[in-house]
Amino acid sequence: MKTVYLDNNATTRTAPEVVDAMLPFFSDLYGNASSMHRFGGQVGRHLARAREQVAALIGAHPAEIVFTSCGTESNNAAIMGTLYSYPAKRHIVTCRTEHPAVMNVGHHLQSRGYRVTELGVDGKGNLDLEELRAALCDDTALVSIMAANNETGVLFPVDRIAAITRERGIPFHTDAVQAVGKIPLNMAGNAIDLLSLSGHKLHAPKGIGALYIRKGTRFSPYMIGGHQEGGRRGGTENVPYIVGLGRAAELAADRLEDENTRVKELRDRLENQLLARIPNTLVNGNRERRLPNTTNLSFEYIEGESILMLLDEEGICASSGSACTSGSLQPSHVLRAMGVPFTAAHGSVRFSLSIYNDVADVDHVIHVMPSIIERIRDMSPFWKDFQAGKPMSSFFTGGDAEHHLHG
Ligand code: PLP
Repeated sequence: MKTVYLDNNATTRTAPEVVDAMLPFFSDLYGNASSMHRFGGQVGRHLARAREQVAALIGAHPAEIVFTSCGTESNNAAIMGTLYSYPAKRHIVTCRTEHPAVMNVGHHLQSRGYRVTELGVDGKGNLDLEELRAALCDDTALVSIMAANNETGVLFPVDRIAAITRERGIPFHTDAVQAVGKIPLNMAGNAIDLLSLSGHKLHAPKGIGALYIRKGTRFSPYMIGGHQEGGRRGGTENVPYIVGLGRAAELAADRLEDENTRVKELRDRLENQLLARIPNTLVNGNRERRLPNTTNLSFEYIEGESILMLLDEEGICASSGSACTSGSLQPSHVLRAMGVPFTAAHGSVRFSLSIYNDVADVDHVIHVMPSIIERIRDMSPFWKDFQAGKPMSSFFTGGDAEHHLHG
């Protein structure tokens, strides 16, 4: 059975060109870039090239790029590295729809006596910039707001947020793990101080990331050790993976147009056809300001997990914002923050495409999905209650356990 991979916000296929670029650094070119000898020194040139490639993708200067082990590390380093630089300040601002790699850092800081303001979002997942302005105070050390939401694809106005924080002299970090490689970003034209990215979301392998730190931004290393990365991150550089990330960044720049035309059209075809063919289906998030590859759909009165299981039987990979076979788990924190009703949030499915998808992939989903939903609804007492006009069962009013969508 052919695999139809539509879970690219969780992780992507490593591009064959990236694998090719990495291979020599496992065998022949294994030197340490910090060594004095030529054998190691030659590796340094490849590191420098990768730094240029990553910087070019986001319109930055190579010296502003620090390689890390993943997006999670980049987020931790951005937040902690800023707080270390402003030891007297005890307040940060984030958002309720952040990835756990920011949100849980905030919760950890709260347990350490920091004040954390989590800004809310409206029903479409949009931030209120007036609420942001009102949250800032003299004690605010950092604002950290994502560039694109991993579950819905909703884009945040990071350029405008950066302008607001710059005016107040407060550093601004954005978790752009889902945005880099999917939409154009130009650090030369905005006031963002720190930006996180991750290799495995843009066809490089898992376990490599980068943190952009604008020249002049106050930052103390989070990973304390050697003098690598300009003294901003200790640890011998992971040369093969860094070279791979560089090549992936170069490919992503070339493929941005394909992502924003052909891939976007495939996403729209999938979304529009499913909406037209399946009753009680809703789109979660702002359809106008979204990543080109993502759609998050709710099939009302059923369970996302059962949908995923039947999709899996057809070779289709997607994700769900719900994991509540036990009936006790809450649906995704993102959909809850948006106020999506439980009847819809439980049955949410995220499809996320990539440049490796084609129309046959999308049409396969369009073909099998209506009968999958019908089968599950036929077995669902909630759907039957809904059709009979009865009040909703308590199952859909949620429990107290948390669920996060992977990626
Ligand atoms: N931030 C966002 C928005 C993500 O989607 C992810 C992916 O899981 C991460 C951070 C974490 O990145 P990584 O898996 O590289 O640690």
